[in-house]
Amino acid sequence: MIELRQIEHAFTLGRKGNERRVPVLRGIDLTIRQGEIVTLIGRSGSGKSTLLHIASGFIRPTNGRVTIAGQDVTDYGEGQWADFRRRYLGFVFQNFQLIPSMTAFENTELPLVLQGVPAENRRKQTTELLEKLGIAAYADHYPSELSGGQQQRVGIARSLILNPPVLLADEPTGSLDSENEEQLLQLLQSLNREHGITLLIITHDDKVASIGNRTMRIEDGQLVSPAGTPNEYRKLEVVKP
Ligand code: ADP
Ligand code: MG
Repeated sequence: MIELRQIEHAFTLGRKGNERRVPVLRGIDLTIRQGEIVTLIGRSGSGKSTLLHIASGFIRPTNGRVTIAGQDVTDYGEGQWADFRRRYLGFVFQNFQLIPSMTAFENTELPLVLQGVPAENRRKQTTELLEKLGIAAYADHYPSELSGGQQQRVGIARSLILNPPVLLADEPTGSLDSENEEQLLQLLQSLNREHGITLLIITHDDKVASIGNRTMRIEDGQLVSPAGTPNEYRKLEVVKP
């Protein structure tokens, strides 16, 4: 479903005439099969977000190829990437990125509005999804009237409304307390189990990493697999079904 081949990336820093290149990713190879949960763990600054931005077309890698759902998207232009993302990718962010002036319902249905889906169909799909995620009771609440866990669910509802086959999550529990973290991890696992959604989750948190069918560690811009010894990880499998 996702294939990263020999991904290298360097950022350019410094003033013009005095630039230096800082390598962040040094040859990442990662294949994620349909229906897998892969977690990628690494320290802050290890290049996790950069890798996710490359897998979603927000950053062009210095080298390497990106193939998603059988399509080599490496050389897609911005418009092509935008279309591709709409069809194939959902995103979960640490800071939710909800629109403060819109209710939970309006935030969730927004991608359908942008697609020109008629109001009647939007209402039906959005209501169903909010029910499935256990937040139908908060449909009319604004983000400021929701807890962190509820806001994250709304963010996930919005990212699922177009039924993407792949969900990419960057520190999805980073802003949640431990109870909400546990619930969110269970939700992600049930989306995978019940809908076969392929998940790539990046995190610096062992507990989040433990929900992966496979866990890789990123160190010095390279992947180390497996991330720990099996025993180390078994201890952490708190929420595994
Ligand atoms: P992580 O998500 O693992 O914390 P990032 O991928 O955000 O790490 O960053 C990896 C490294 O690349 C860091 O050293 C960071 O400072 C650097 N970096 C990230 N984005 C940029 C950018 N736009 N320009 C220059 N350097 C960047
Ligand atoms: Mg990051």
